[in-house]
Amino acid sequence: MSAAEADWQSAVDLLCSYREAVLVCHVGPDGDALGSMIGLGSALRARGTRVLASWGSEPFEVPTAYASLPALDLLVPVSQVPPAPGLLVTLDTGDVDRLGSLAGRVEAAEQVLVVDHHASNTRYGTANLVDPSAAATAVLVAELVDRLGVELTAEVAAPLYTGLVTDTGSFKYAATTPSVHALAGRLLATGIRHDLISRDIWDTAPFAYVQLLGEVAARAVLERCAVGGLGLVWTRVDARDLERHGLGLADVEGIIDVLRTAREAEVAVVLKHDPVDGRIKVSARSKGAVDVGAMCTALGGGGHRFAAGFTASGSAEQALDTVRLALAAAPHLSA
Ligand code: 5GP
Ligand code: MN
Repeated sequence: MSAAEADWQSAVDLLCSYREAVLVCHVGPDGDALGSMIGLGSALRARGTRVLASWGSEPFEVPTAYASLPALDLLVPVSQVPPAPGLLVTLDTGDVDRLGSLAGRVEAAEQVLVVDHHASNTRYGTANLVDPSAAATAVLVAELVDRLGVELTAEVAAPLYTGLVTDTGSFKYAATTPSVHALAGRLLATGIRHDLISRDIWDTAPFAYVQLLGEVAARAVLERCAVGGLGLVWTRVDARDLERHGLGLADVEGIIDVLRTAREAEVAVVLKHDPVDGRIKVSARSKGAVDVGAMCTALGGGGHRFAAGFTASGSAEQALDTVRLALAAAPHLSA
């Protein structure tokens, strides 16, 4: 279901009625979270709003894939985020917990505008611009930029393109509609270096990542009988693997994309041990016959139908058992 006209109006009204806006996105930000936040921040700044942007997880360091984006000076660490903002805008964040150490700002803020495209969104704002049919949160931000009457400059377009290209898997996933390509065309027309943006996201990694990928792929397990016979492929990334290779969680986001190429498995799962909080981050992908979004939402996480995740407190083995059970019971969707 797309967002109602009244929701667009409330969003625009809120953004126009505050002289300062605090923008936040989900912990461990990916290209859409960060790109949507920075893109909106840039547009608001262009119309005179004071903007601060942040996210509530460690390390507070822009992942190298996004480090060349413009307007990263909007970012401030959590310690500089006002305790009780007037207007808080959350981007790409399906529930309050996904704000991590900034979750408390939702209660404390005067107004909370939620801009998101997760089907699992809990509509925790005082205004909610939520459209699960949008390919990326960046799509919603692009329309907000238009509705605010802000010119689409390269500075605004580059982060939005980052969000769009991240969440559509370079325009491969089903949510890639003609209007997604039309938006990409408008963004490119601003003169952004889309080739460099894509290279940073998809085609650049430290050598240590290539080595870790080899290890992690070699230990992958294919369970043909899982998921009611549709097959599961899974692997693990332990904290000591990351430490040995000098890598962080943000560096290993792409492993799931390699794993899920296994033809024999409907579902791919990567269990990542977070070296900061010791918990297990579970990433799940399906090819269209199982709703992993519903599964992850039921397990306390969230996401989209075919790309989702959750965080588990026990061991990786326990998390995997939970996933196996949930997948065995998951209804099979028709094509
Ligand atoms: P990834 O596996 O790439 O981390 O995440 C895939 C999708 O699931 C993204 O849309 C992400 O926001 C969502 N997701 C991943 N982990 C969690 C989680 O712990 N909670 C929620 N609510 N969503 C998650
Ligand atoms: Mn997104």
